[in-house]
Amino acid sequence: SSVPAITLNNGSVMPQLGFGVWQVPDDEAASAVRTALEAGYRSIDTAAIYGNEQGTGHGLASSGVPRDEVFVTTKLWNADQGHDSTLRAFDASLDRLGLDYVDLYLIHWPVPRQDKYAESWKAFEKIHQEGRAKAIGVSNFHPSHLQRLLKESGTVPAVNQIELHPHLQQSGPRAFHAEHGIATEAWSPLGQGKELLREPKLNAIAGKYGKSPAQVVLRWHLQTGNVVIPKSVTPSRIRENIDVFDFELDAGDMEDIAGLNTDSRLGDDPDEMN
Ligand code: NAD
Repeated sequence: SSVPAITLNNGSVMPQLGFGVWQVPDDEAASAVRTALEAGYRSIDTAAIYGNEQGTGHGLASSGVPRDEVFVTTKLWNADQGHDSTLRAFDASLDRLGLDYVDLYLIHWPVPRQDKYAESWKAFEKIHQEGRAKAIGVSNFHPSHLQRLLKESGTVPAVNQIELHPHLQQSGPRAFHAEHGIATEAWSPLGQGKELLREPKLNAIAGKYGKSPAQVVLRWHLQTGNVVIPKSVTPSRIRENIDVFDFELDAGDMEDIAGLNTDSRLGDDPDEMN
């Protein structure tokens, strides 16, 4: 069965499960993206800083899947924040991707120390009005950073992409997003494939359904309402990670997974990131 979609606050329709390409080398990105598209993914998450927008674009172009059937996200890197530099960075991203629009453009990190995200957001609004980014959003924004955008601008971010997995469940930010019509997108949804996937609870649930711990975690995200973008370069895992629509976790499973929260981050705290 196929991937459900969610409707963003601007009317865009986004697949609830997509393919992330962080740490995929540029020369492997085309093949990984093609494998993902063949497996049925219709959403790809890249970023300027990943250095693989070109490979990602080649993968899309050579896949045979029509452009308008794929939801493409890229992100503005920290060093390019500011009004005019954002406009230039966006042009460069489109160029590398070989596209004339993206479906979603995100401010990658708020970087409160450089205090330029509100100014960058004005450039995002312009890019959005021009139709070159169908939707605009942010990433790694704490509710306090979002509050400031809500106060200073008329455009509510469509998405906030944050670190989120069963060890970092982010219930405060998720509630804030829901209250303001911002979709929550989970990065490192599998906890980067580390300790999380060895949790005995997850393995017990996986055994019950004949699924893998990774599939159980992805199912938890989907049933929680998160958008997820698991990453893999291994074709069998790329397929495994989208094969999550033939089973459902019950309330007891969901409760067991809720109990795994330790509020521990794998990545940086957005307030500390430079
Ligand atoms: P992830 O949680 O998706 O884990 C990926 C790793 O888990 C793989 O490298 C592999 O080692 C392992 N894995 C994948 N599938 C598996 C399976 N079925 N079974 C066992 N192990 C498996 O981690 P991620 O790549 O950090 O996050 C996903 C995507 O989120 C990234 O590719 C990127 O697009 C995005 N991201 C965004 C930010 C941000 O700041 N906005 C930060 C990190 C990641």
